[in-house]
Amino acid sequence: MALTTQDFELLLQANCILSSKLDSTGLLEAVMELATRVVKAETASILLLDEKTNELYFNVALGEAGEQIKQIRLKVGEGLAGWVAQNKQASIVNDVRNDPRWSGKADEKSEFKTRQILAVPLLTKGKLIGVVEAINKVDDTPFSDQDRRAFEAFASQAAIAIENARLFTEVKNEKEKIAAVFSQMSDGALLVDEAGNIQLMNVAAGHFFGVTPEDAIGQMNVRHLTKDFMMIPSLETVYENKGSNCPVELRRKEGKAFYMDGVVNRLSGAKDEIAGYLVVLHDVTEMRKEEMLKRNFLSLISHKLKTPLVTISGYAPLLLEDSSRLTEFQKKALTTIKNQGMHLSSLVDKLLNFSLVESETLSLDPKEVTVRALIEETVSNMKPYLDGHGAQMELDASLDAVSPVRVDVERMREVFRNLVENAVKFNSKSEKKVRLTASPQDKFVCVSVEDNGPGIPSEEHPKIFQKFYQIEESFTGQVEGAGLGLALVKRIVEAHCGAVSVDSAAGRGCIFHVTLPVSLR
Ligand code: ADP
Repeated sequence: MALTTQDFELLLQANCILSSKLDSTGLLEAVMELATRVVKAETASILLLDEKTNELYFNVALGEAGEQIKQIRLKVGEGLAGWVAQNKQASIVNDVRNDPRWSGKADEKSEFKTRQILAVPLLTKGKLIGVVEAINKVDDTPFSDQDRRAFEAFASQAAIAIENARLFTEVKNEKEKIAAVFSQMSDGALLVDEAGNIQLMNVAAGHFFGVTPEDAIGQMNVRHLTKDFMMIPSLETVYENKGSNCPVELRRKEGKAFYMDGVVNRLSGAKDEIAGYLVVLHDVTEMRKEEMLKRNFLSLISHKLKTPLVTISGYAPLLLEDSSRLTEFQKKALTTIKNQGMHLSSLVDKLLNFSLVESETLSLDPKEVTVRALIEETVSNMKPYLDGHGAQMELDASLDAVSPVRVDVERMREVFRNLVENAVKFNSKSEKKVRLTASPQDKFVCVSVEDNGPGIPSEEHPKIFQKFYQIEESFTGQVEGAGLGLALVKRIVEAHCGAVSVDSAAGRGCIFHVTLPVSLR
């Protein structure tokens, strides 16, 4: 017999109820209740499949014995429900006591007396998720084939609803996990769309910028959020960056010092278009303060040491000038004082250079100067050193042919002093040649320092400008130095909006190019 109109109506009603429920417990209770109505049974039960153990268990059981029934577990294949699960086939048993498959476990745990069972598998896309059973017909008539068909139709709806609820719970749990990690991170995290509108923000990021995530999400742009901060590199540069991530630094412009370090990760969409950015920020204020303290301390003690040293280095040679009145011992002692004073002076200079390389801001006092004057003065100050090392200096006529530059003369002399000193000190040839030339380059002037020393292999070129970097001793026959000279050169030249580069190969000598903006007056 086919399903009746009444059956269809009930099934339709069941469908509406099932599709409105997403929480598992509420849904399973509704399934049990509807199951009894569909086939007019006294009660119903649902056994779900535990895939890990291949067992069926009662997830929801009603009544006083519910908790005990919940502890029952049936192996797939065991009992009537186990048989239905194993065969993925419905079964009608109108006299359970005469069916060897019936285990009676649930009856033992409860006062209930099972007489008849209609059990059907719960299947979604052919996959078994459990078994639903209708127990005892209300009017004591036997379960019929029509009941089975109606119950199967109901079970297929119930299975879909149960599976959907399971998937929903799974997604919800995952989402909650991610949300918990995101919100409890001590680092600030922001998700912004390609136009910089804030899509997600965690509590830490809210604290960093002094807003609540609720006020920022969907309402603020990252440009507005960071308005009180100086961002390095700028937001424009970050947007233009083609790489997948870009390190950034943020400093509060005014008020209490606050520093953040972070990374902007570019998120790509399906066709490599920008889907947005994930920004992760870390509070580095304490670290920066410590660094600053170290730098200030270094620069302070170096400056304090400088004054007594000037006195020592000044008086010792003066006393030695009139050495006729001195005993041999006094002469020896004064010479040692002079030499050690000079040594100490150069150490203090190195310390000062170090704090200069490290300093965040480099104050400049720019003045217009001709390239020839700048170079000649540098070289003449170095005369004792150059003569002492037998260096042959050549100041090319091109130094006169370029426009004057606008630079901090003191600091720029330091640049050329370092380059000329390197040109001499790394050259072990008896004929040490150093040539200085200049050439115009649009709005810049390029001053070059060329030597006939050992040269620098190309793989070392990017590294030599890093602080404390020195090429292996064996290569240059290393001479005393701290590996700070070129770092300082780079720092000073770049502070003038210029650039420094090297042109060299092993065995071919070096040419260091310093490009400086011309004076625009
Ligand atoms: P330092 O002179 O204190 O060693 P620098 O920063 O001035 O440090 O130079 C870094 C390294 O680059 C040097 O140790 C040396 O190996 C190499 N270098 C620099 N200038 C020259 C040069 N003109 N010829 C050969 N090697 C050089």
